[in-house]
Amino acid sequence: MLVREMSRQECEDLLARLAFGRLACARDNQPYIAPMYFASEPGHLYGFATMGQKIAWMRLNPLVCVEADQVLSHTEWSSVIVRGRYEEFPDIPEYSNRRQQAQSMLEKARSLWWQTGVAAAQTRRDFDRDITTFYCIHIEEISGRCASHDPVEHSWPLAES
Ligand SMILES: Cc1cc2nc3c(=O)[nH]c(=O)nc-3n(C[C@H](O)[C@H](O)[C@H](O)COP(=O)(O)OP(=O)(O)OC[C@H]3O[C@@H](n4cnc5c(N)ncnc54)[C@H](O)[C@@H]3O)c2cc1C
Repeated sequence: MLVREMSRQECEDLLARLAFGRLACARDNQPYIAPMYFASEPGHLYGFATMGQKIAWMRLNPLVCVEADQVLSHTEWSSVIVRGRYEEFPDIPEYSNRRQQAQSMLEKARSLWWQTGVAAAQTRRDFDRDITTFYCIHIEEISGRCASHDPVEHSWPLAES
């Protein structure tokens, strides 16, 4: 298997194509990670969520990490890791343009973009379908790795000559 670094453009293309990844946050040195749909543009990811643990934690500590990958086979895969900063778009007049922008990007990325978040929140005892939020992850660092089949594959452990 050959593994190479992906360019920034390749990373952004993969994020836009997948529109899905795992969002990690942390509180008091305890990591938390959850699967999440998103929409992307260069420099930013946009998401929609109901209020729960991840939003509470990202409010306390906005430093987050997002991982997204496409695995075609054991030897053909791509993976992108983003480090970034969470910004919430609250439902107040100052944020109406940014909420509108996030919503229209999510609509373009996926139909029924709101459905999974609202459905997943139904397991909460304090579930309230009206308490939702749009947010943005400002991308501060991005890296990607991409694997392809190596026609001259060695066996492991390497056979002694
Ligand atoms: C493919 C996919 C796409 C998703 N897209 C979105 C999205 O765009 N927006 C959105 O809000 N949610 C989405 N979800 C659901 C999301 O992963 C969370 O389950 C949900 O947002 C609730 O997270 P929370 O942090 O608010 O947890 P809370 O509701 O506060 O739950 C608390 C506890 O429940 C457990 N828990 C919560 N979620 C999960 C989970 N997914 N798996 C296992 N245990 C869990 C954890 O132990 C957590 O500590 C998606 C899930 C999947 C599988």
